[in-house]
Amino acid sequence: MSVARPWLLWGAVLAAVTIALLAVRTHIDAVYIAMAYLLVVQGSSAHHGRRLGLVMSVLAFVAFDVFFVPPYGTLAVARPGEWIVLAAFLVTSIVGAQLFERSRRVAETARLRAEEITRLSAISEHTEALREAGRLKDALLASVSHDLRTPLTTIKALAHDLAAEGEERAMTIEEEADRLNRLVANLLDLSRLSSGSHGVSPEPNEAEDLIGAALQRVSGTAAGREIRVSLDEREPLLFGRFDFTQTLRVLVNLLENALKYSAPPSPVELSARRDGGWLTFAVADRGQGVPAEERERIFEPFYRPAGSAPDVSGAGLGLAIARAITLAQHGALEVTEREGGGSVFTMRVPAVDVAELSEG
Ligand code: ADP
Repeated sequence: MSVARPWLLWGAVLAAVTIALLAVRTHIDAVYIAMAYLLVVQGSSAHHGRRLGLVMSVLAFVAFDVFFVPPYGTLAVARPGEWIVLAAFLVTSIVGAQLFERSRRVAETARLRAEEITRLSAISEHTEALREAGRLKDALLASVSHDLRTPLTTIKALAHDLAAEGEERAMTIEEEADRLNRLVANLLDLSRLSSGSHGVSPEPNEAEDLIGAALQRVSGTAAGREIRVSLDEREPLLFGRFDFTQTLRVLVNLLENALKYSAPPSPVELSARRDGGWLTFAVADRGQGVPAEERERIFEPFYRPAGSAPDVSGAGLGLAIARAITLAQHGALEVTEREGGGSVFTMRVPAVDVAELSEG
């Protein structure tokens, strides 16, 4: 109904105008009649667009001819000059309808552009607000962690004294204080890494050096567990572009997780190899593995799968930090299923050609 309404309305207007004009047909000039019809045609195109305008042009043309151009009641025309009047009327009304349509389109485009501009400026305001919120969050974290560290140090020192005096529970206090300290430091790191204000500076380093340092770091945690190392036999010198200290942190985290989430006596395997443009480190274990639906989520901050033991030391920040570090040095970190059970964590960093090093 709503689509047909303008058509019915303007049909009725045309009929009413025709009836009104018929009443005064003998008293007025054809020019006034043409003007009245033109008004109806232009009004209809302004109201409902070109299609209605064109149909109204034709209807008005026929009405004009039949009722107001002698001989009345037929399409025939008595004087040839009248054809010119009729043709002029038709052309004027059609051109008018087209012009109306064009101006409607221009107005519509302008309206859409204005809307687009409003939308874009809202988005940019929102982005700016988010950036500001990010800066605030970093500042807040920095100040909170600073303020927390001082009392934590005091608590730890007091607990240490108490433990020395034989208070058994003081050990727990000390451990918890350490845990909080680590959590605060990790939070601060993650926030810096994700805001881009991190201290990651990639430079050419050798894979073997990194592996050596990582093995030394985990020797305590490994507690006799075997860590099997294998290096790429095709490439005696494996170099990559990475920040040594930060990448060491990632590798140590992966090794510690592998030891933590797999049971002895299964060994943990660590390998490094050249893979096209990448230097790839892989840490493989024979633990429970990570279910497919959690392989992305475990890299989110604070994500720990349902049912994970609350006493395991981390807070679910380790892998989030590890991924942020690898991304900051244009690398990648992911987990895949290991054939025969367990998981493989793969860290990639850009490889460096030995030839490139001697040139530089
Ligand atoms: P945390 O170990 O402190 O919980 P992480 O960010 O290091 O935090 O790890 C997040 C989660 O990913 C862990 O809780 C664990 O469920 C899972 N995960 C990490 N490494 C392994 C692994 N080698 N095998 C199985 N699950 C793992």
